[in-house]
Formats: sequence, structure tokens, C-alpha cells
Amino acid sequence: MIQNILIVLATFIIMELVAWLAHKFVMHGFLWYLHKDHHQKEPGFFEKNDAFF
Ligand SMILES: [Zn+2]
Repeated sequence: MIQNILIVLATFIIMELVAWLAHKFVMHGFLWYLHKDHHQKEPGFFEKNDAFF
């Protein structure tokens, strides 16, 4: 029981870490041209970054 909770928790933390690393190294690297407007406050609801969904 406790082991299952720990596995779920560890998976969640690893997923967050991977997402953060992917954001930092991939999206701020060669995908920066798509991701740039995600960090810029521009008018308009839609962004190029929406392509990631
Ligand atoms: Zn970013």
C-alpha cells in the first residue's frame, strides 16, 4: 500500500523533472522559435506554443 503511494509519488516527481528538463533543453533549444512567444506577453489568446498540446 505504502509502496504503491511511493511509486506514484516518485513517478510524478520524475515526470515533473523530465518535463522541466525537456522545457529547459529542448524548448529553449532547437524549438525556441515555437516556444518563444510562450514567455512573451503578446495580445491574442492563441500562441505557437499551443502546438505542443
Ligand atoms: Zn520556456
